[in-house]
Amino acid sequence: MTASSDFAGPAHATTFLTVDLDALATNYRLLAGRAAPARCAAVVKADGYGLGVGPVARTLSAAGCETFFVAHLDEAVILRRELAEAAAAPEIYVLNGLMAEDEQVFRDHLLMPVLNDLGQVERWAEDCRAHGPHPAAIHLDTGMSRLGLPRDEQETLMSEPERLRGIPLRCVMSHLACADTPDHPLNRQQQRDFAAAIGRLPKAIASLSASSGIFLGPDWHFDMVRPGVALYGVAPAEGRPNPMAPVAGLYGKIIQVRRVDAPGTVGYGATHRFAGPTRVATVAAGYADGYLRSLSGRATAYIGDVAVPLIGRVSMDLITLDISNVPHAEAGDIVELIGPHADLDAVAKTAGTIGYEILTSLGRRYRRHYVGGAG
Ligand SMILES: *Cc1c(COP(=O)(O)O)cnc(C)c1O
Repeated sequence: MTASSDFAGPAHATTFLTVDLDALATNYRLLAGRAAPARCAAVVKADGYGLGVGPVARTLSAAGCETFFVAHLDEAVILRRELAEAAAAPEIYVLNGLMAEDEQVFRDHLLMPVLNDLGQVERWAEDCRAHGPHPAAIHLDTGMSRLGLPRDEQETLMSEPERLRGIPLRCVMSHLACADTPDHPLNRQQQRDFAAAIGRLPKAIASLSASSGIFLGPDWHFDMVRPGVALYGVAPAEGRPNPMAPVAGLYGKIIQVRRVDAPGTVGYGATHRFAGPTRVATVAAGYADGYLRSLSGRATAYIGDVAVPLIGRVSMDLITLDISNVPHAEAGDIVELIGPHADLDAVAKTAGTIGYEILTSLGRRYRRHYVGGAG
């Protein structure tokens, strides 16, 4: 997808984010198939990993997803509204837990907190006894040391199960620290600790694995998996072939072309000096759009099938490309920054980061173009 005629919307747009919702649905089905008979939830925090939570969640719902996870309570309220038309009201969990005074918001929007410590368990139990049962999840920390009941609190809960009285316990979950490194010993250790812990708690849906954990094998699936990033096309295991279909594409228009020659330089800091006659294209995308500044002087963009190196620094709104080997390129032409040639994971690697950060850094001012799906 590289011709400007492929993009909907007014002609004045100069940067485009394409979201292939059919690929998203395909990825959901692939992950659900891998995880079966476990059910497959979807993590749509951070605005659906930057791709737009409404179209993303509606597409996943249409593909059969009935359970969603977000990080913030505000994200959950928005998601509930975005999914108002869904055939069956989906379950929505809030990973960041139950902060003081938020109980009524969970009730009003039919959301479930993931209770992360004994204090939250106590407050939710009180709320359930006062206002009627409302389901929740519990997160057990098995090695992330980030969220969830630490080990001593798990022991307390297991020896004093009355602390859960009044709470319909819907899900017990934990989170893997190293699932993208299949041989890491922590994967098996967390799996064992989680299996032992759920055996000592009331029966509930057990969930351990996110995207990468699904590929560790059935021992890690339990009753429900909760992938995020793989849905959006990012490779679930480093250094292995990526089974996921690409979902996000990033394209920018050339807004000016110039001829330059040695000993000129390009961009802030004059970091790139021309060795000889060069054609330079200036493209309307920069770090304010999530095209990270660490890509300066390192990234490769594409005009059609031809690789064109990024030269000089990434500015806030602009990048500069050496298009000497594409003599016909001119202002108005579309350049691929992320897409079939400029693979998301490869761009992330060049930027010194991971696909997660590229996706969730994508800016707000692109013209968004949703393809297929249930947007
Ligand atoms: C973000 C998150 C997920 C999804 O992780 P991916 O690696 O994107 O699949 C699942 N569970 C928890 C607790 C998370 O924070």
